[in-house]
Amino acid sequence: MPYTGLKGPFSLNEKIIESAVSVTPGVYALGYIEIGGDFIPKYVGRSDVNINQSLKEWVNTEYSKFKFECCDSAEAAFARECRLYHDWKEQLNNQEHPKKLDTRWKCPCCELYESTNQK
Ligand SMILES: [Zn+2]
Repeated sequence: MPYTGLKGPFSLNEKIIESAVSVTPGVYALGYIEIGGDFIPKYVGRSDVNINQSLKEWVNTEYSKFKFECCDSAEAAFARECRLYHDWKEQLNNQEHPKKLDTRWKCPCCELYESTNQK
């Protein structure tokens, strides 16, 4: 598993989210803990404004653990999300490439958005 730099894993419940996660742009990975103790990411997401709120929307779903990282801006969060998505693509439940909020943003890992204007 690649080094992610994400904080966690934490249990996915409101109390933990409230105490561990700031109100800021950021990225997160949802998943579970394998026998042996490794975190297995199954979903990657981001929030452009409030990662704290976004994570709370996942409480009581199939995911029991999360990791996260706060980012300075929505654009930084997007780039981070792209990297995680490409690293873990094979094992994620969300198979769609992260969406960008601003047309000038580029994925740091692929040419997806480079070619969209040339059709
Ligand atoms: Zn990409």
